[in-house]
Amino acid sequence: MAEEDKDRICGVCGQSLPEGRRACPRCGERYITTDSSSPRRMKRRLAAVVLAFFIPGLGHIYAGEDSKGVILIMTAVLLGALPYALLWWTLKATEVTGISTVISAMLSIAFLPYFVLWIYGMLDGSKAVLRYNFPDKSHE
Ligand SMILES: [Zn+2]
Repeated sequence: MAEEDKDRICGVCGQSLPEGRRACPRCGERYITTDSSSPRRMKRRLAAVVLAFFIPGLGHIYAGEDSKGVILIMTAVLLGALPYALLWWTLKATEVTGISTVISAMLSIAFLPYFVLWIYGMLDGSKAVLRYNFPDKSHE
């Protein structure tokens, strides 16, 4: 068996993959096949969205955009901590002992940047999978 043929085997079921095919004929696992490299298994957009749902940036790491994912995670930690830092500071600086309506409204606003980042993590994480699966196309 030639070296080239060895690489063209489905990682799921072991079926050999015909050249140029995007999916395994036996189990349906989808692959990225290029002339230069061995087939890579396609990544799933849903997996990226689910991961990003829990931690913004995790979807990017799943899709192979590690540095962007790490930046997103660090930003998420900072933005997620911001409302708590504000709350701590407010309670310390004032004589307020409980969480009033004003403070809870302030907290909601302070969570907005995190919320925006959270949404972005899921949307762009999903796009990152497309960038991984179809590197030859642009996804604007
Ligand atoms: Zn297969």
